[in-house]
Amino acid sequence: MRFLLTNDDGVQAEGLLVLAKALRSMGEVQIVAPDRPRSASGHSITLHKPLRVTRVRLADGSTALASNGTPSDCVALALRSLLDERPDLVVSGINRGPNLGMDLTYSGTVSAAMEGAILGVPAFAISVASYAEDAPFEPAARFARRLASEILLHGIPPQSLLNVNVPAVPEEAIAGIQVTRVGRRHYPETVVKRTDPFGRAYYWLGGDPPEDVLEEGTDVKAIAENYIAITPVHLDLTCYPLIPELSRWGLGPR
Ligand code: MN
Repeated sequence: MRFLLTNDDGVQAEGLLVLAKALRSMGEVQIVAPDRPRSASGHSITLHKPLRVTRVRLADGSTALASNGTPSDCVALALRSLLDERPDLVVSGINRGPNLGMDLTYSGTVSAAMEGAILGVPAFAISVASYAEDAPFEPAARFARRLASEILLHGIPPQSLLNVNVPAVPEEAIAGIQVTRVGRRHYPETVVKRTDPFGRAYYWLGGDPPEDVLEEGTDVKAIAENYIAITPVHLDLTCYPLIPELSRWGLGPR
């Protein structure tokens, strides 16, 4: 069994180390991850500057490959060039912080798993729903191992991936596992505008945490109730109901 691991928190992140340790008991683990934190990099890829890859040593003495590229670059590099053999599974994480609702499109963690799916390798992303320094990664790592063996048994259809969020609570406080859909979060609209020492304005996005909309069946609600949320995600972003609607607009042949 061969695993390719990556993340968006950087190659030295604790979550990646804990994940690698958990999956090594099941097979061969190779890591290709960004050489620095790349959270919220989305599905960005690097086309206009060279990518470098260096071998680095992790905190447990094992080695990994680090790239100056994005999480998606790392998966593409690994699958197209760096790995001698194709992995059976791409796992991205364990991210520090939730990837719920529209986070999916902002997330480097989820995008890396998407890149795996695009390149035809089963993939899942896994996140712990807390940014806290002491966020517990072990329950997520144990679940990653369980999920990996189920995926290897059942497979995942082409063009799809799984997005997993694990509540940031001790194992015994996890309420269970729910298969969910993508929920909604209201992101704060505030932008901080300040003035730099040269008198020019600069802007700061983010800061306040998003407000969760607790709809039944969503990843957002499952995490709020301490369930592990598994959301199947498809790469086809087409809005099918709009196809007949747009066809009626009379946009004409050209
Ligand atoms: Mn991250």
